[in-house]
Amino acid sequence: MRVTEVVFHENRIVRLTVEMPDPERCTTDKVPHLPRMLFRMFPHLEHHECDNLRGYSFRQESRCTEIPHLLEHLIIELQGQVSPHSGLSGETQWNWMVDPRGRFHVYVQYENELLVLAAIRLAEKIINALDNRELGLLDLTDDLDHLREIARLGRSLGLCATPVPEDIPLA
Ligand SMILES: [Zn+2]
Repeated sequence: MRVTEVVFHENRIVRLTVEMPDPERCTTDKVPHLPRMLFRMFPHLEHHECDNLRGYSFRQESRCTEIPHLLEHLIIELQGQVSPHSGLSGETQWNWMVDPRGRFHVYVQYENELLVLAAIRLAEKIINALDNRELGLLDLTDDLDHLREIARLGRSLGLCATPVPEDIPLA
C-alpha cells in the first residue's frame, strides 16, 4: 500500500490517494492477520465508531473490509493517542469505473497539520509492516514518542484548531 498524495481541504479535512498494488488483495479477508494484529497493537480501536452498511462494530467490520479503511481508522487513532481530542472522523471511497483499479480516496479530519502528516506516514508504515509480517521494522514506543513530539511542535506553531491568543508570543 502506498499513500501517493495528501491534499489539505477546507474544514480541517485531509484527502489521501492510496494505491493498492494488487487490487485482488486489497481487503482484509485476504489477510486476516492484519486486522487481528492491528487490534492487538491498538486495543482502543475497539471503541471506534464506524459507519458501515451492515451496522457492524468496527472490529466486526475490520475482518472483511478494504485495507485503506483500516488505514483511515489508524490515522484517527494515532492522532487521538498523542493529542487530547476526540470525535475525529473519516471516510474511505473508491470508484474504479473512473480511477485505476486499486486506487482509494481516504478522507480524515485533523486538528493539527503537522501531526496528521506524521500520523499518515506512521499509519502507512504500520499497515505495511503488519501486512508483510515485518514487525521487526516497528518500534511503537519510539514512533509514538516521536509523534507526541510532533504534536507538541504543531501546537507551539499554532497549527491546530485552538487559536493561539495574540498576546502570548510564540516561542
Ligand atoms: Zn469505519
